[in-house]
Amino acid sequence: MNDLREKQDALIATAKRCFDLRLQTNAGGNLSVRLDHADAIVIKPSGVGFNECTRDNLQLVHLDGTIESSPYKPSKDLGFHLDLYRIRNDIRAVVHCHSPWATGYASAGLEIPCLTVQTIEKIGRMPLIPLSAQGGPQTEEDISPVFRDPRVVAAVLANHGTIGVGTSLMKAQYLAEIIEETAQIAYVRDTLLAAHGRTAADLPQYGTAAEAKAAS
Ligand SMILES: [Zn+2]
Repeated sequence: MNDLREKQDALIATAKRCFDLRLQTNAGGNLSVRLDHADAIVIKPSGVGFNECTRDNLQLVHLDGTIESSPYKPSKDLGFHLDLYRIRNDIRAVVHCHSPWATGYASAGLEIPCLTVQTIEKIGRMPLIPLSAQGGPQTEEDISPVFRDPRVVAAVLANHGTIGVGTSLMKAQYLAEIIEETAQIAYVRDTLLAAHGRTAADLPQYGTAAEAKAAS
């Protein structure tokens, strides 16, 4: 029971941080955490804001999809949350939010470049996942294949939002923050480059000097 209480409280705190940082307003987005002592997760239901999560409205869902009795509607994205936990044992938490800079980038059909030292060294790539085949929102069919690569910890969904995963809610939340921060930095860089008639190809590439030295 302590496991459940601890995970509920961690989820409530993470959701509040995400809301306070304005990465998620209104009742959109969702986040979940896997229990240590059961094949089950705690997840925010549909229609409840990140700032309104309480022990009473969070849902307990088993990895086989069984939802413990709840007056709330399950999240529309429950399917991809469950599947991420099924395909990767290292994924213990998922934060999915509709943060505006990153979602704007992805909705322009652009992958957010990992251009800062932190993202190059710690993340490597934040894949862009396009809309589903019929133009609908991304489901586990679109998302899980990308996360089957164990190196992928962050991805961005076109016209939708971001996904950060981790071994804890805080780690997944940090990624949600880094994705948004990187989208802002990339936007500023690319806007300034365009204003000055230059492209990213004109710039020195981080890491290339070290790679050249290592190869010589
Ligand atoms: Zn969403």
